[in-house]
Amino acid sequence: MIVVVKPGTPEGELERLVEFIQNQGYRTHLSRGVERTIVGIIGDEPLTLRDRLYGIRCVDEVIPILKPYKLVARAAKPSGTVFEVRGVTIGGSSIPVMAGPCTVENEQMLLETARRVKAAGASILRGGAYKPSTSPYSFHGMGEDGLRILAAARDETGLPVITEVMDTRDVELVARYADILQVGTRNMANFSLLREIGQSRLPVMLKRGWASNIEEWLQAAEYLASGGDEKIILCERGIRTFEQATRNTFDINAIPVVKDLSHLPVIADPSHGTGRSALVPAVALAAIAAGADGLMIEVHPDPSKALKDGAQSLTFDAFEAMMADAAKVAEAVGRQLGGHAA
Ligand code: PEP
Ligand code: MN
Repeated sequence: MIVVVKPGTPEGELERLVEFIQNQGYRTHLSRGVERTIVGIIGDEPLTLRDRLYGIRCVDEVIPILKPYKLVARAAKPSGTVFEVRGVTIGGSSIPVMAGPCTVENEQMLLETARRVKAAGASILRGGAYKPSTSPYSFHGMGEDGLRILAAARDETGLPVITEVMDTRDVELVARYADILQVGTRNMANFSLLREIGQSRLPVMLKRGWASNIEEWLQAAEYLASGGDEKIILCERGIRTFEQATRNTFDINAIPVVKDLSHLPVIADPSHGTGRSALVPAVALAAIAAGADGLMIEVHPDPSKALKDGAQSLTFDAFEAMMADAAKVAEAVGRQLGGHAA
């Protein structure tokens, strides 16, 4: 950590600053420049020390050298995290596509969707049983009945299942049915939920908080990793900006940035990222070109009748067309769709 001292600080104050840092158990290195004096702190970089330093009058700026996350940093596993979920490889050169409705509405619609997305090349089935809703009056999902339907669809199609868990009290129950737990955007910073899931060591997909920057997102992933979880997927699903033309602003930059900063696989969710079905294919292809390790796409048998997120859900035909184009882009960047070892 580097402490930049305010210009014109009297010698006595500077000495007291150095003494304060040393009294906390750190070694210091003083460097006097023409314009500025800098105190280098040698040792670990606890955030509490940074906060305390900002309370000292002569401190202008405290600059951390280390990142606030370690286990999920690229340096911890330069070759990248690759793992398997029921035979589907995540993080490898082949790109798995997760597809299904926003919400499980009944058994018939889920089975029909599972069959159709599988036929079009999807390798993981998505569907919400516990739905986060901004309004307390909207539909909140079918709960355990929805989980049972997801498991039935997996039994029939062989597709592994991903579904959201919102509450620490439900982790065990959801994990009984799901192959991958999803942490939604509204819960990215629910640290007790992250701890609970981290300790379960189950595969988990962590969506980016809609108002979180990349560093905060990676720190949330660090919560999962520090509990012992190694099967973590990140999912860019768009952030809230001043732009009103789309539901969210899909942050395409985040994909190469996170690939550089972290060894974790990154999935793109252009459905929530745009909020409009007509835009989903273009952003899905862009995400693959940018290096995404997978896609999450909302698909519904009849989007006009969907209980949730119909405006951004693709029809079966639109999903099929998108998959054909996505396969071409994947090939252009030396990959292929599927999530199965090449
Ligand atoms: C979802 O996947 O349906 C969902 C609720 O996503 P998000 O948490 O990104 O809004
Ligand atoms: Mn949704």
